[in-house]
Parts: sequence; C-alpha cells; structure tokens
Amino acid sequence: HEWSAPKVRETFLEYFKERGHTFVPSSSVVPLSDPTLLFTNAGMNQYKSIFLGTVDPASDFASLKRAVNSQKCIRAGGKHNDLDDVGKDSYHHTFFEMLGNWSFGDYFKKEAIGFSWELLTKVYGIDPKRLYVTYFEGADDLEPDLEAKELWKEVGVPEDHILPGNMKDNFWEMGDQGPCGPCSEVHYDLREKAEGEGYRNASALVNQDDPEVIEIWNNVFIQYNREPDRSLQPLPNKHVDTGMGFERLVSVLQNKKSNYDTDVFTPLFKRIQEITGAREYRGRFGEEDPDGIDTAYRVVADHVRTLSFAIADGGVPNNVGRGYVVRRVLRRGARYARKYFETDIGDFFSKIVPSLVEQMGAMFPEIAKKETDIKEILDEEEKSFAKSLDRGEIIFEKYAKKAKVKGSNNLPGDDVWRLYDTYGFPVDLTKLMAEERGLEINDKEVEEAQEKAREASKGDKKTTAALVKLDVHDLGALENMKDVPKTDDSAKY
Ligand code: ATP
Ligand code: MG
Ligand code: MG
Ligand code: MG
Repeated sequence: HEWSAPKVRETFLEYFKERGHTFVPSSSVVPLSDPTLLFTNAGMNQYKSIFLGTVDPASDFASLKRAVNSQKCIRAGGKHNDLDDVGKDSYHHTFFEMLGNWSFGDYFKKEAIGFSWELLTKVYGIDPKRLYVTYFEGADDLEPDLEAKELWKEVGVPEDHILPGNMKDNFWEMGDQGPCGPCSEVHYDLREKAEGEGYRNASALVNQDDPEVIEIWNNVFIQYNREPDRSLQPLPNKHVDTGMGFERLVSVLQNKKSNYDTDVFTPLFKRIQEITGAREYRGRFGEEDPDGIDTAYRVVADHVRTLSFAIADGGVPNNVGRGYVVRRVLRRGARYARKYFETDIGDFFSKIVPSLVEQMGAMFPEIAKKETDIKEILDEEEKSFAKSLDRGEIIFEKYAKKAKVKGSNNLPGDDVWRLYDTYGFPVDLTKLMAEERGLEINDKEVEEAQEKAREASKGDKKTTAALVKLDVHDLGALENMKDVPKTDDSAKY
C-alpha cells in the first residue's frame, strides 16, 4: 500500500509535530483515575484537568500548549456505546484509535480548520469534492458557530459542502459532566462517483448513518464545562480538541469501502481463518451475509482488540462496571466464534492475540509486554463461560420455541433474566440471539424480572442491588463502579 496503516499514523503525528505540537503518548484505555468515565472514549480525556484549569503545576501538562497523539479508545458502554453496531456496519468498532491535535489556550478555530483542510487535501491528497464539513447551528441558549462556517469558506470549501448540524451531532460532550463545546466535522463521500461525475451532492447523506458518507474528523472548540446540575459554565480558556478515526482514515486512503478491508484488520482475519479453518472473509460492502460468517469475522477481530487493550491496561473481566463490559464483550465474541466458526471455546481468543501483538506492539508496547497476562486472563474467562454457553444455547432454544408456539414474537423478561442469572448470558447477547430468531425483548419486562429476583433474594448477600441493577441499566451508571479507586482528582468532577 502507498498508505499503509503505520504510515498514515506517522504522517499525522509528523504533520502536527512540525507545527509545534508535542507528542503525548496515549493514556490508558482504562481510566483508573477518573471514576466518571467507564473507558477512555476520546483523545481529550487525559487532558481534562487542563481544560478545567485544575492541572497540577508540577505536571508536564502545566506548560503544554500544543499536543498530538493517537489515543486508544473503547466505546462499548456508557454515554458512547457502539457495541450493537459492531459486526453489522463497516465503520464502528468497540476499540479504535483516535488521532488528535490539541491547542490549550493557544490557537483556536482559524488555525485548527486550516490544519485539517491542509492535512487532508494536500498531505493525504484526498479529493476535496468528496469532503463535506459541518458547523453547529445553535440551540435554545447557544449561539450558532458562524465563525467556523466562515472559516471553512475561507479555506476554499464550496458553500454547498458546508452544512449546519444540531446539538446531537455538532456539540461534543465527553460524558454527563465535563468540558464540551460546539464542533465542526469533516465527512467523506465514498460513493463510486463523487459530485460532478454523475452523482448528486451528498449533503443529504451526511450524518444519516449512511455507510457511504462517513464522518472522519471532529474538530471540537472547547469553551464550556457541563456541571453536575447540567448547566453550562464558560471555561477560563478556549481550547481546540480534535479527533479523527484512524481506521476510517486508513480505509479512505486505501480506497476501501470498509475499515475491515484495510491492513488494520486483514492480518487478524487471516489468523482467525488459520485457527478455525473457516472459509475466507469475503464480506463485500453492501452485500448480505447469509451464513453469518463475515459478520463473525468482524465481531471477533473487533473484540480481540478491545479485550487485549483493556486487559493490558488493567481492565479484567468481572461482574461490575468496566469489568462487566469486558466480560460482555468476551461472551459475545465467544458465542459468535462457537456458533459461526463452530470452534471450541476455551482458548480461542488467546490464539489470535500474537497476531495483534505483532501488528500493534511497536506503537503500543504495553500489549507486547502484557501478552502472557492477556492470554491467561482470556483463557480463564473463556473456559468459565464455555461450561454454560452450550447449555444456555439449549435453554434459549427451548424458550424461543415456547414463544413461537404461543404465536408470540416476544421473548419473556423472566426467560431473559434466567439466562443471565443461571447461564451468565448478558442481556445484550440474548438480545442478539433473539434477533436471529425474529424475536424481541422488552427491556421493561427484564427490569421487572430482575426486580422480582431482587425482592425474592432480599437478605441474600450474593445478589446485591448493584449487581442486579447493572444488567440492563446503562453500564456507565456510576453507582456500579465500585471497583474504581477514588483519587484526589475524582473529587473535583
Ligand atoms: P459517528 O457519528 O460515526 O458515530 P461520533 O460522532 O460518535 O462518530 P466523535 O465522538 O465525534 O464520533 O469521535 C471523533 C471521531 O472518532 C469520529 O469522527 C470518527 O472518525 C471516530 N469514531 C467515533 N466512533 C468510532 C467507532 N466506534 N469506531 C471507529 N471510529 C470511531
Ligand atoms: Mg458515534
Ligand atoms: Mg457523529
Ligand atoms: Mg462526531
């Protein structure tokens, strides 16, 4: 490839280093010192104290004006949760790298927009006809960002490629609390022919979850803090915080229609095939996947990345908070492997890990250093689930049949709950299996079932309220994050 994945990453880092940015290594994907956050979900997380003006004067961050890096991110729970898309679409992963450049009270919108445009069109050589940009259109109490709109015009973006966007798409927030602000995003049109070559303008497809017009880069202009009471307070200084999906950029530069067709994923697919003897991955964009095998390739390759990086940074599978997200991801992946690759579960994921280490160990040495631990923890967790996976599948079939016999397309909450309670099937896994059978699950019913179970087991120490509640409620719920040590930092947010 002209643009191999490592070269794409290196080019980004070099571009900003040449423009006065300091390289700051990715922070841990498990944010142990920030209990308000389930996983690191964006490059800006580690700079929170700078944005809030609470940075320790003795730290390296105190004098940092411009930074660049590639941040390990996980979006599998909490405010940013893309787990349900994984396997089904071509551009959302649970683990991904976010390339980013930052200004801390230094340059603002003009330079940020200038850098983005120059890097994309001049350095990476992306056809400007395929790019669309957005700006914040304003909300009740917030001004529209007409400055950003004007600046995009100045760098040469035609007006019909500059689009207004709403609170959901063009106002970035890290979580329920924290630094935030209006953003301006860049989208890429990957249809066969761009505008002017026989295709219409793609504006109508921007931000519509259309797999052919995807968001690649977000430029956030941080100027507020979302307080615990939900109000927005202006921050002492204005900052720039950007995030570009590395795997999406690689896909664009390698002229692929799916992130899974790039050298980020193909080595993992190759390894999965070696292990399972399954047919080759042939997932072609926009085509059905009748035997489910291509989907399974995507899920397993995605999940092994999430699991390995989470474990390397200290996120071990267990029953609460972050640990439960890791457990859910593993069980979901194991079930895909068992069902679609017809492989034994017990040491499946650990056999893929060496390929990942070979591919990413240079950029992220922690996975090479922790390789043995990662494999051991995966094996232990997989073995413990293997015992109940096959039995749980049989019970699920029984429940599914029972529903069908009744002429119902609803899998009762009690059954979903029992699969969780007795066989360790996370609700999202049961949902997925139900979907395969054309069955639906009613969240309310599941909640009622767990409430009943909670009542029944009152006084039973084993089933704590937190543990029961955790299952269907948002996993980002802070009360479930008992495994996270509180630090001095945490008291502030
Ligand atoms: P989308 O609308 O596609 O879900 P987003 O608006 O949620 O993306 P941001 O929070 O703006 O994403 O993050 C910055 C960039 O990170 C995005 O422009 C995108 O390129 C990338 N990105 C976000 N989520 C994912 C993901 N799940 N997998 C891969 N890349 C992602
Ligand atoms: Mg998203
Ligand atoms: Mg978006
Ligand atoms: Mg975005």
